[in-house]
Amino acid sequence: MEKAKELKEKLFRKKTNGWETLNEEEKEKAYNFSEKFINFINSAKTERECVKVLTNILEKNNFKNIENLDNLKAGDKVYYINREKNIYAAVIGSDDLKNGFNIIGAHIDSPRLDLKPNPLYESEELALLKTHYYGGIKKYQWVNIPLSMHGVIITKDKKIEINIGEEDDDPVFTIADLLPHLSSEQNKKKLNDAIEGEDLNILVGSISYKTEEEITEKVKLNILNLLNEKYGIVERDFVSSEIEFVPAMKAKSLGFDKSLVAGYGQDDRVCAYTSLKALLNIDTPKRTSICLLADKEEIGSMGNTGMSSRIFEYFLNELLEKTIGNKPGLLDACLKSSRVLSADVTAGYNPNFQSIYEKNNESYIGHGISVIKYTGSASKGGASDANAEFVGYIRNLFEKNNIAYQNSEMGKIGVGAGGTIAYILADRGSDVIDCGVPVLSMHSPYEITSKFDIYNAYKAYEVFYKDE
Ligand code: MN
Ligand code: MN
Repeated sequence: MEKAKELKEKLFRKKTNGWETLNEEEKEKAYNFSEKFINFINSAKTERECVKVLTNILEKNNFKNIENLDNLKAGDKVYYINREKNIYAAVIGSDDLKNGFNIIGAHIDSPRLDLKPNPLYESEELALLKTHYYGGIKKYQWVNIPLSMHGVIITKDKKIEINIGEEDDDPVFTIADLLPHLSSEQNKKKLNDAIEGEDLNILVGSISYKTEEEITEKVKLNILNLLNEKYGIVERDFVSSEIEFVPAMKAKSLGFDKSLVAGYGQDDRVCAYTSLKALLNIDTPKRTSICLLADKEEIGSMGNTGMSSRIFEYFLNELLEKTIGNKPGLLDACLKSSRVLSADVTAGYNPNFQSIYEKNNESYIGHGISVIKYTGSASKGGASDANAEFVGYIRNLFEKNNIAYQNSEMGKIGVGAGGTIAYILADRGSDVIDCGVPVLSMHSPYEITSKFDIYNAYKAYEVFYKDE
């Protein structure tokens, strides 16, 4: 080889399409893994449903509820469920727990439309539900798509679980947008104002209650009557409900080559699923391996199921108490010595919007897991900026284990910002870095990922748990 070419080969970092590095057998594995992931996101469209499905998987793999156990030893597998909306799972390591944990944290809440406390109303003989959107959505994307209804309603004496719109013979719901013929005023508005928060009203019925009596709101009455017959609820019961409307479309393989996954809720269930599946491969690690799946990330991680809650520490204290015995200050020492991957998705480079990106520092679909040293705004404001030493540890771990990884930011400086749970765990004193799957059309009703990146994330998370 000529000298300059040889030197370039040696010194440059190459950008590699991950598919070119896989043989047929590995490609098959990536496709099979993603097939199961597609089934997962179709069956778990809310945080509560995620907790249910994943608890089943954990139980099948010999994980036990930590609350039923008094003592734990190396190799034991446990989980803890917090208020049905977030879950932690751990495999106890052979090393003294005070030397720290290997933790992977993802979130299982996704942007969606929640119901307001008094949602049902009638307008010109149509029944509608008022919503309050959850998380950062582009509101215009959520009209005229099929929506399904998920969640719980707490009545005076019972708890009702709702899931309507996922089965083939279920009805669906939708928000009716304005027809183009009458949109000349709407078309002049900014994209963000064309559909406003108060316009996200879901159409749920049109038949009036049959009666000879002179009464108003007969369509609303008919809907409430249907709900009362089926679930025994009255209008007031909506105040103690958590009802989420989510896209009813099924996740599917995308493309002639079926190399991509399109589906709702991949932020961040793609990292939740891969990090939990990786944990199932851990037998007796040296350092205790922990998978934490948080709720409420999309609205700032507040509340008693969000990452800011001390419930995670409660779980860690339980681990300490039931292994080596807890004592004051021990948890802080453990956390100081812990390594954390904040497993959250990032923006993939979208060729439809090239001017937004700075090409040398973006994540590319199909190029592997994205390692993100810092997020934050233009000034790095609000960023949890990982130490060079920890970044060095991660890249060496990935290189040693043939994990395809890329290092990126999210768009040009100043075009926007995003955050994750990284800063909350860094606040506890651990080494933390963001590390997740790149996504196209993030927060939309139909997000896109690469099967190569999904499978690669799964492998990356496994080597991270296992590392001594
Ligand atoms: Mn996320
Ligand atoms: Mn998000």
